[in-house]
Amino acid sequence: MNRKQEIYNKLLELVKEENVKVDEMLRDHLYTKLGGKADFFITPTSYEEVQNVVKLSNEDHIPFTLLGNGSNLIIKDGGIRGIVINLKHLDSITSEGHKVVAQSGARIIDASRYALEEKLSGLEFACGIPGTVGGALYMNAGAYGGEIKDVLDYAYVVDKHGNLVKRMASELDLDYRTSNIPDNGDIVVEATFNLKPASYNKIKEVMDDLTYKRESKQPLEYPSCGSVFKRPPGYFAGKLIQDSNLQGTNIGGAEVSKKHAGFIINKNNATTSDYISLIEHVQKTVKEKFGVTLEREVRIIGEDKE
Ligand SMILES: Cc1cc2nc3c(=O)[nH]c(=O)nc-3n(C[C@H](O)[C@H](O)[C@H](O)COP(=O)(O)OP(=O)(O)OC[C@H]3O[C@@H](n4cnc5c(N)ncnc54)[C@H](O)[C@@H]3O)c2cc1C
Repeated sequence: MNRKQEIYNKLLELVKEENVKVDEMLRDHLYTKLGGKADFFITPTSYEEVQNVVKLSNEDHIPFTLLGNGSNLIIKDGGIRGIVINLKHLDSITSEGHKVVAQSGARIIDASRYALEEKLSGLEFACGIPGTVGGALYMNAGAYGGEIKDVLDYAYVVDKHGNLVKRMASELDLDYRTSNIPDNGDIVVEATFNLKPASYNKIKEVMDDLTYKRESKQPLEYPSCGSVFKRPPGYFAGKLIQDSNLQGTNIGGAEVSKKHAGFIINKNNATTSDYISLIEHVQKTVKEKFGVTLEREVRIIGEDKE
């Protein structure tokens, strides 16, 4: 039996057959519509399954990668070796008093809408962020003055040994578009948000206003991964890119958006290398013109195509 078949058989002992895919095309799961195949793509249905997969990965030295909604990731054309774990089946959202409890595969947009229905305020900022709850914690997602750090009470994670562990928000080192989740090798499986009671109409008004701002300023009609760069201290990435006359610049099918300079869109069947080359071109040009280093917010993972 070859190694791939052996891993497949072991995965089938842990996760239902319909939730284990082989050679899954990852571009179908990514906002950029770019990226190669995953050797194994699994969608567990319980925390225990996630724990068992982590233990298998440790025992058999099989690397694994978490994939949320693919809205902050660029995956290279050679794809990802090992196991890609996607928690889309763990997507329940409930409430306990003034807290909203969301499993990490739920979309943060849905948690925000759920909070509205429960007349709970605090997650309005997230009403247009297209990631999962897990992805939002991973990078302390934020928008229009709000961020996960402001509302997270605690999370449950599967740690690198496969244990289910509770981590208070203060233990996650949440900061501007960063956390210690990747350094610890944690998989977020659930998050509890501390919210405040407010009137439905007041919450809805804020969400409508933010949605209007987003739709009028962002090129949502094209595949993209949102803002490519973090805000450099003292500057705005979009303004630096705009002032470098880079809007409309393209490499292959990737283009610096004319509508929002911080976005790079997949305008015309871009490859991952078009995308990455354009990101590097933007970084180089801004550095030359303004002496400012643009740090990527978006993560680039996977292997180059052979
Ligand atoms: C049009 C558009 C607009 C956007 N606007 C905003 C915005 O206003 N504010 C903002 O902050 N972001 C924004 N983003 C970026 C993106 O939506 C956020 O970064 C989001 O939090 C990513 O979540 P995801 O589930 O898509 O993560 P993915 O892109 O799938 O993954 C991102 C990282 O998180 C890790 N990860 C995912 N799930 C888990 C988990 N359960 N446990 C551990 N690690 C995990 C992955 O391994 C990966 O390293 C935007 C993106 C787009 C396309």
